[in-house]
Amino acid sequence: METMKESAKELGKSSGAGLGAGMVLIPQMMQQPAGGAAAAPLVVCPNCGAHVPSNSKFCAECGGKIAKSKTTKCPKCGEEVPAGTKFCPSCGKKMTVSK
Ligand SMILES: [Zn+2]
Ligand SMILES: [Zn+2]
Repeated sequence: METMKESAKELGKSSGAGLGAGMVLIPQMMQQPAGGAAAAPLVVCPNCGAHVPSNSKFCAECGGKIAKSKTTKCPKCGEEVPAGTKFCPSCGKKMTVSK
């Protein structure tokens, strides 16, 4: 059992080191091949207008904060739908718009 603990420690160490290296690798990951952009929906940076993946917290171009698009959960089926949607696209339940 000692060996398993040791290897877990090693794993933790290496993932920590990987994080440091990952910071350097991020610009390379941003260079996606044309046509592969369909994987992640893009949002427009409110700061500079660059298109960045919607799951980004900060703009890759200017470092500005990207506001995450709000979603609401359907009370009936639990489907996540964009805030402001009037009817659930999954089950048709009328969504209550909270202000
Ligand atoms: Zn930007
Ligand atoms: Zn629903």
